[in-house]
Amino acid sequence: MTNAPKEKEITAKKQPAFQAPKGMRDILPSEAAYWERARETASDIAEAYGFGYVETPVLENTDLFSRGVGGGTDIVEKEMFSLKTKGGDSLSLRPEMTAPVMRSFIENGMSRLPQPVKLWYYGPQFRHENPQSGRFRQFYQTGFEIIGGEQDPVYDAQVIVAAVRFLESMKIKNPIIQINSIGCRSCRTIYRKKLLDFYRKELAAGSKKKGKAICKDCERRMDTNVLRLLDCKEEGCEEIKNRAPSILDSLDSPCRAHFKGVLEFLDEIGLPYSLNPYLVRGLDYYNRTVFEFFTEEENIALGGGGRYDYLADLIGGRPTPAVGVAMGIDRIIGILKSADIVFEPRRKEKIFVVHVGEVAKKKVFALIEELHKANIRVTEALGKDSLQSQMKAADKEGSPIALILGQKEVYEDAAIVRDMKTGAQETVPLNKIVEEIKKRLKS
Ligand SMILES: [Zn+2]
Ligand SMILES: [Zn+2]
Repeated sequence: MTNAPKEKEITAKKQPAFQAPKGMRDILPSEAAYWERARETASDIAEAYGFGYVETPVLENTDLFSRGVGGGTDIVEKEMFSLKTKGGDSLSLRPEMTAPVMRSFIENGMSRLPQPVKLWYYGPQFRHENPQSGRFRQFYQTGFEIIGGEQDPVYDAQVIVAAVRFLESMKIKNPIIQINSIGCRSCRTIYRKKLLDFYRKELAAGSKKKGKAICKDCERRMDTNVLRLLDCKEEGCEEIKNRAPSILDSLDSPCRAHFKGVLEFLDEIGLPYSLNPYLVRGLDYYNRTVFEFFTEEENIALGGGGRYDYLADLIGGRPTPAVGVAMGIDRIIGILKSADIVFEPRRKEKIFVVHVGEVAKKKVFALIEELHKANIRVTEALGKDSLQSQMKAADKEGSPIALILGQKEVYEDAAIVRDMKTGAQETVPLNKIVEEIKKRLKS
């Protein structure tokens, strides 16, 4: 390796010295309206369904994820940003939010509150994945979790409904719900064996015919995590998967009744769903209901979730029933942008303050603070000194009123109040200005 720049690098367009890390990006003012809308919408839905906001640190002990999410999952095996602190702790940027929220539930003694406890969150998560369309290494999710109480199917239905309402409010038309039950541990033990038998037979038959086989990852999964065979998107594997036995046939009667209960609640409000017996979601903590949301055009999930009655126990708490959903904000906003759906920023009218001359500029600078304190929304063009360009800016902003201070006004301790629609002007003493503006904004 030599440090001398290669010719290509010299002739290439000069890049800035620093760029956002791979797979990460800036959110700029031009798209801020989407992001603000997403958070506000999540907050509105949470309020409507009775979820309280929880915010956990972006870093957690690495063990929380290896024990909660599972050591054999892609997330923990390959995708975590982990670090050693100077104190010797092993921490990871959170790759998902369910384990941190459950950690918080246990640590803060929320099991002593009336059950269940409904929590919602919004924030960045981090996975070291290959960046591709709709996938970022820093991505944002909002989610709703119902923790504690009974294993009542009504809660599974409620987080699904809350998620659908969120998607609809974000102008995602006709979200498609794919739903499945992966049973409890005992159902899964039986199903795993059936699935393994099926794959062994397939492979034996395939090697006779020379050809048909599963990918390297799936070969590994046969030893480590059989259910993940159903997650594979490789063409050959998918073909085999579509003939695999359905987990629904392996459910015991309590798990079957629970799943039936969930579907009945969804039927009750006429929410359409499609059963996908091969949907497994590859995290260790899930049991029974699992689901994902799609649109007709996209085959990446916009969100998903499920029941995770085992998680509390996995991370050292008492066994606690729980169910939750998470929605991927980056993907949702990506869809809105490509469909040219625009959210107007929620703009309120602002008073425009204009100065003429250096002394007036200082007065105006102070006047803006006074107006802010009186909860009057103000805007300015302090960097522009010509009256004309400031008035142009006021027009562009759509301000209903302009306040103009020139030399004469400074001398008189007054300001000109100009109605931007009619052009009518009036000089008002500065100590009456707040009162006058409030009066005019009301009418
Ligand atoms: Zn079961
Ligand atoms: Zn495969």
